[in-house]
Amino acid sequence: MQHYDNFIDGRFVPASSTERIVVRNPANGHPICTVPDSSPGDVEAAVAAAERAQPAWARRPAIERARVLREIAARIRQRVEPLARIITEEQGKTLDLARTEVNFTADYIDYMAEWARRIEGEIIESDRPGETILLFRQPIGVIGGILPWNFPFFLIARKAAPALVAGNTIVIKPSEETPHNAVKFAEIVAEAGLPAGLINIVHGRGPTAGHALASSPRIGMVSFTGSVETGSAIMAAAAPNITKVNLELGGKAPAIVMADADIELAVRAVKASRVLNSGQVCNCAERVYVQRSVAQEFTGRLAEAMRQTRFGDPLADPTVDYGPLINEAGFRKVDRLVRGALEAGAELVTGGKRGPDERGYYYEPTVLAGCRQQMEIIRRETFGPVVPIVTFEDLDEAIAYANDSDYGLTSSIYTRDLNVALRACQEIRFGETYINRENFEAMQGFHAGWRKSGIGGADGKHGLYEYLQTHVVYLQRY
Ligand code: NAD
Repeated sequence: MQHYDNFIDGRFVPASSTERIVVRNPANGHPICTVPDSSPGDVEAAVAAAERAQPAWARRPAIERARVLREIAARIRQRVEPLARIITEEQGKTLDLARTEVNFTADYIDYMAEWARRIEGEIIESDRPGETILLFRQPIGVIGGILPWNFPFFLIARKAAPALVAGNTIVIKPSEETPHNAVKFAEIVAEAGLPAGLINIVHGRGPTAGHALASSPRIGMVSFTGSVETGSAIMAAAAPNITKVNLELGGKAPAIVMADADIELAVRAVKASRVLNSGQVCNCAERVYVQRSVAQEFTGRLAEAMRQTRFGDPLADPTVDYGPLINEAGFRKVDRLVRGALEAGAELVTGGKRGPDERGYYYEPTVLAGCRQQMEIIRRETFGPVVPIVTFEDLDEAIAYANDSDYGLTSSIYTRDLNVALRACQEIRFGETYINRENFEAMQGFHAGWRKSGIGGADGKHGLYEYLQTHVVYLQRY
């Protein structure tokens, strides 16, 4: 078994602490590798390296910074297969999805590199004779990136690529569940010959290493993706230093299926939401509202589609539709929410229990009909292959149900009626709405949650500008 180190200042360096985190395959519990359980001192060393590297990096023209990013993307493309296997082994997604994640990561880095020539300031009209007001966009400094486990490789790029092209440097703390792919990312960075200190990767647990990063007075922004609870802890850690926070948090996406919808399309898209990555995707449909007149048909067809999905160890059988849940805690949460719904009167249409292979955290594809708005399974993020269905009478009721949530990340509606679609766009209070298509955002969009789903956002021009701060200069002619 390999024992890996942190990546600080362009080198792999042992942590000060001798404690190790053992990474396991969620499909069978086998140990994969270990990474350091880093101390706050290790995090500070990484922040110091990033701080030293940042001024010279920011002085380089953006187009040169972009070249460095493209070099990383090219090297990622040279090893899609080994990277995909590592992601599948520690995270449990299918190999196909892992390959998509790796390719998407390279594409995302190239996309952010394209912004190098498009970072623009403004010239603002002055009230005073002879004065020019200039607004510059400048780097923030050192970024702290704290990552979840569900798209672990892509999320390194989602934070590092905009950070670097904008002239910042970054310290990343991967999830303790999925650090192996981050070690491989660090190896690519090391080979690509980047200036030391631009990208630093420190392993460790949330309350120690993660907290140390979020509370460091030397970072300019903490960019976090993860749960609402941790997002709140990170805001508190950042508060004493008034550090900017960028938070991509959980979701409980509603899908509204109107009576006039293409039911086949809606079934396919909702099923994909709950099967992709074993249902562990923040933007995917987590609760389904179906108009009463088509509820029976939709539920029957969805249950049939879910029954046909196959799950299992994705490395042992690359043809499975989904793999295990990430860990015991994730499995228990899914099971507890399903049991709670059944006790509260939901009807089990299919699934509802652990898969036959008890070595991994497998959950059967599950459909629950007759759910009600107040049930916990409708209100809390489930993160599993489970579809809870609520019926509604008219659009007003569906929109009221959809909006009645602490979360505000994504939403979707299936209808052939343009007026219904437009009304939903105007009245649904979410950062994203998908109309007649599956839930997944584009890199040129802006992924930003309302309410407890986050602050700020990622992707596109607006996501890049999160990594820049403004500097306004008043230039007086005399
Ligand atoms: P999590 O909040 O448990 O952990 C995320 C990271 O935070 C880990 O690296 C962890 O070590 C760290 N952490 C934990 N406690 C900390 C603390 N006190 N201080 C600093 N860091 C701490 O989330 P998870 O289980 O890894 O990921 C799943 C969650 O992520 C889901 O809620 C999902 O919806 C969300 N997510 C959101 C998006 C989005 O774009 N909005 C994308 C992917 C995942």
